[in-house]
This record gives sequence, C-alpha cells and structure tokens, in this order.
Amino acid sequence: MAALAIVVVLGGAWAGGVAGRSRREALWQPAGPMTPTLAPSPTPSPTPSPSPSPSASPSAQAPAPPVADGPSGAMRFTGTSAVALTFDDGPDPVNTPRILDILKQNGVKATFCLVGFRARDHPELVRRIAAEGHSLCNHSWQHLLDLAKHDDGYIRADLQRTNDAIHNAAPGVPITLFRAPGGNFTPGLVAMARQMGMRSAYWDVDPRDWESAKYGTGGPMIEHVVGAVNSSTRPGSIVLSHDNGKPDTIEAYRRLIPTLKNRFTLVPL
Ligand SMILES: [Zn+2]
Repeated sequence: MAALAIVVVLGGAWAGGVAGRSRREALWQPAGPMTPTLAPSPTPSPTPSPSPSPSASPSAQAPAPPVADGPSGAMRFTGTSAVALTFDDGPDPVNTPRILDILKQNGVKATFCLVGFRARDHPELVRRIAAEGHSLCNHSWQHLLDLAKHDDGYIRADLQRTNDAIHNAAPGVPITLFRAPGGNFTPGLVAMARQMGMRSAYWDVDPRDWESAKYGTGGPMIEHVVGAVNSSTRPGSIVLSHDNGKPDTIEAYRRLIPTLKNRFTLVPL
C-alpha cells in the first residue's frame, strides 16, 4: 500500500505538471443536474466512427453515446462525455458512510439508488446523501426482482412509498431517477416511472460486485472491481456498483475514484 500511495502521489504531481499546460482544465464542465435531452429520433451515423481516444482531443466535442440505449429505453449513458457513478441497494449504516467519505474527500458527486425500507430505517443517511449533493434514485421498496409482474396499482404504490420514505428523511429533495431491481426494466415500468416524474436509469458498466462465488471476497474482489471498472468505463458511461453490504466495493472505489477523476468528469445523474 505504501508503494501504491507513492505512485499515486507522484502520478498526481506529474498530472499537475501537465495540467499547467491547461489541457485538462479545458475539459472540465460544471457538474449539475443534467437536462434530460432524449433525441426525438435516432441519429443515423453514416460514417464509421473512429475508435475513441479519450485523451487525444477534448471529449466534450466527441458525439455523446445514445442515452436511451438500455432495456426498454432506460438510460445506458449520461448523454454527455461525463461519467456517472451509481451505488445501489442502500442506505447501509456501515458502508454508505464510507463511500460518502471517499466521495467527499475527492470532491465527487454520485448517484444513490435507495431501497425504500432501508431509506425508512436510516433517514440520517438519506439526509446526508442529499445534503452532500448526490442524486437520489428510487430503487423500489423492497427490491422485488419481479416487480414488473405486479399490476400497475401495486407498482405505483411501491414506487410512491419509496419516494415518501426518502422525502420523510429529506423533504423536497428531487427524486428524478428510477432503477428497476436487477435492472429488470419493462416498457410498463419505464412508463410508470415517467408518469411519476422519474427517468429510468440502467447502466453501461457492471463489475458484478455481488458475484463473490466467482470473484471471491477481500483482495480478489477488490482487484476484480478495480480492473473491471477501469477497463470498461468510457466517456458517457453510467457505472453500477453496490454500497449495501459490499465493503470490498468501497475499498475498490477508494482506489478507483482518484483514477477515474483523472480520466473523466464525474457527475451525478
Ligand atoms: Zn439493486
């Protein structure tokens, strides 16, 4: 760890030297709520696009990937070259404060997809997430993977109950996002969320940080998450990870966030 810390410090000093040429600063954009700009029709791309080279030219000028490219038209990308980190299934009294501390230390805003009953049980964490400028996302009341199979009345009540729990903790906080449990979006779920004022947020990058049977726990899982997120994240990616019950993910992001911050503008959705 000491060796790593030295490398990071040296890397930061080097980057600072390069930044003296003000190349990176030119890429910076103010973070803030994104205006939902769904293209009215698919944009044809008659010319093959060259392979992306994020550092060769200001990525702000590269065409943004199509936003609504997820299942049932849910968002897969942010709509700009900025990257959004999303943390699901909390709030968790142990791990959510840890990731909030890391985000704060790095000056990064993210998005938290909250499970309703946990928001009810940990209102102080909901308040902290909102107060520190992160986006809030409705992840349903109790994470039923087959939520879409219930009738409209059930689904509406489930999502409303979740929003109410969040608002009981943080009155008036905007909840403009919905993520179906397991990402199991259907046209009906997306439509219901839209009726309730929420965009549906899928993801582009998924390190599957819950799959400990495959990737192990502790060091191996940390290495897996760091490697998967670093190698897969591209301009515009929405990145999925979990804070609830996932201490290895938190440790992975302790390493990832400074690196990602160097490569991308990180925004809340
Ligand atoms: Zn989930």
